[in-house]
Amino acid sequence: MKKDFIFSEVTKLKGVGPKLSKYLKKKRIEKIKDIILNLPFSETDRSKIFKLNELEVGKVQSIKVLVKKLNFPRVRNLPNKISCEDETGKIDVVYFNSREGYLRKLFPVGEWIIISGKVSYFNKKYQITNPDYVTTIDNQDYVIKNIPKYNLTKGINEKKYRSISEQVINNIPIIDDWLGDDFIKKNNLINWNDSIKNLHNSSNINKNQSKSFRRLVFDELFANFLSLSENRKRIKKNKPPKIFNDNYSEFVIKKLPFELTASQKSVLKEINEDLLSNDRMFRIIQGDVGSGKTIVSLLAIINVIKSGYQCALMAPTEILAKQHYNLTMKIFKELNLKIDFLTGKSDYKDKKKILNNLSNGQTKLLIGTHALFQKKINFKKLGLVVIDEQHKFGVKQRSELAKKGGDNCDLLLMSATPIPRTMMMSLYGDMDISKITEKPANRKKIITLSKPEKKINELWPFVKNQVEKDNQVFWVCPLIEESSILDYSSAKKKFELINNKFKNKVGLIHGALEKHEKNIVLKKFLEKKISILVSTTVIEVGIDFPNASLIIVENANKFGLAQLHQLRGRVGRGEKQGTCILLFKEGLSKNAIKRIKILKESNDGFFIAEEDLKLRGFGDLIGFQQSGLKHFRFSDPVNHEDLFKLAENYVKNINDKINQQKYSFLLKLFDRAEIINVKEF
Ligand code: ADP
Ligand code: MG
Repeated sequence: MKKDFIFSEVTKLKGVGPKLSKYLKKKRIEKIKDIILNLPFSETDRSKIFKLNELEVGKVQSIKVLVKKLNFPRVRNLPNKISCEDETGKIDVVYFNSREGYLRKLFPVGEWIIISGKVSYFNKKYQITNPDYVTTIDNQDYVIKNIPKYNLTKGINEKKYRSISEQVINNIPIIDDWLGDDFIKKNNLINWNDSIKNLHNSSNINKNQSKSFRRLVFDELFANFLSLSENRKRIKKNKPPKIFNDNYSEFVIKKLPFELTASQKSVLKEINEDLLSNDRMFRIIQGDVGSGKTIVSLLAIINVIKSGYQCALMAPTEILAKQHYNLTMKIFKELNLKIDFLTGKSDYKDKKKILNNLSNGQTKLLIGTHALFQKKINFKKLGLVVIDEQHKFGVKQRSELAKKGGDNCDLLLMSATPIPRTMMMSLYGDMDISKITEKPANRKKIITLSKPEKKINELWPFVKNQVEKDNQVFWVCPLIEESSILDYSSAKKKFELINNKFKNKVGLIHGALEKHEKNIVLKKFLEKKISILVSTTVIEVGIDFPNASLIIVENANKFGLAQLHQLRGRVGRGEKQGTCILLFKEGLSKNAIKRIKILKESNDGFFIAEEDLKLRGFGDLIGFQQSGLKHFRFSDPVNHEDLFKLAENYVKNINDKINQQKYSFLLKLFDRAEIINVKEF
């Protein structure tokens, strides 16, 4: 097999047509290399031939029998049956829906054959239904052995998959290892070819198995860090420094109704140093919900405007963008700068004017949704792009954004999804990271309570009290997975119930609403025209509801820790005391009880993210799912923390321009080549 054959589609293999490739795709097998990466989880022991009097019902066993008689009843629902025997007993082999001609060929009367399959017992006789293998004695070596057991799906059985995977696994060419022998030995790894061979060879369950797996984990992390580090090199190029004094920013800071926190100040300092430097900024601000990222980014923006450049501020939704726009208009008011707002919905005449003012340089700041990055939008002198709630972007999109901004453009991203330390590098290794670690001092700790659902009636007086005080309430309804219809009806029912108690004060948002319908309700809530918002869908993080004081989450055990923390972060953003009530059905799991305890004890998003990771494994972390990065197949920051560090350091020490030839196989193996445009080899 040629090296590059490994990266072609599976349909290039013998016996793989469009139908089978569709099934394989469900198992994330699209290219031939995915077969290499699809590891067996166990093995089926077919290595011994049993006598019929040694059979055990329920077990997969192999037998050698004489074919006596074939029986085709030709009655619907009655199976075809082949009677066989050996010197110790009799057995029936049973087929549903198999053609007669095919079976006659497979079972020649009067000959000995090998059969392997799951043994059952029916009508006082042993029976094997739809055996996995039927073969001649000549060919018995193909069946009578330990056979790797892969996680398969409907439409692919062991025999079929084996015929595909063996074409690949037995023919992998020797690859020049990208890790040196010394490194491999020192870190108790193993070379790549051997690791793959070991991992697929199930009868080889020996100590090399774990060594081999760790090698694969290391490679996956290495490929990830390497592509991020390349992305970083691509983005962090030279640029003319932004030159500014702090006249503007001091002016804005003085007008703020609060003091910046120490964290906000130090992050702003890091950003300013980037702006003033010769290197393009590529930085992310990580800070818990409500930690005050927006104002930090606006101060960066004002400095860049002061230096004579234009800025763009992008938010994922129109409502959030509008909120930023309103805030900006307020705090930059006296500076008399032209600030514009653009979304996909801006009407044609406005748009034309906006575009005009951008290209002639009059507009200093453009705020909006992803509409900011349409082709026809040309800035005269763009100096900074700020992207809020960036966790929805993947690495490739980040690199594209940087291209769109042009060579002089600094890039600042913000995310409210705290990420555990171990994963920080694997998500944001291409960026510099600034953390806002404290909340504004005036913020009261959100009170978190839990209650069994059947005591829901005890809540009404409390809710009533909040509404009477002019506070606002979020009511998050049962999250019923994969059923938008049920989802809808349960939220609707809850809405009716609450609306009966608080007439005309309740709004409803659910998944079946159109985006603009959702916006109408959200606006009403923001403008305090309603007091209680019942919702199924999780309203985006980021929107500032300073007046919301209470959030009630039903079926709270359906959410992960980090997610509950995010939900909770929607209240207590202003001066009001925030309360979060988690409603549970009876009979909580140990894990769920632990989660409540952690939430009650801590308000620190970073701490909670670490705990969430420990409790649930990283696949469920919201930041990760939304990051646009594909999940790791093998690596897991809980079990492989040491390898995360090892790979991180290894990449840091590759200072020279990476030898693409050397790493291209690795990068393609883990779908990272595309991110940094590695050419074919
Ligand atoms: P996030 O980090 O979640 O984006 P925001 O930037 O929306 O948070 O800030 C949340 C709220 O906190 C806003 O109402 C903002 O005005 C306020 N805020 C920001 N910084 C401070 C501070 N240093 N002191 C008091 N309030 C602040
Ligand atoms: Mg925000």
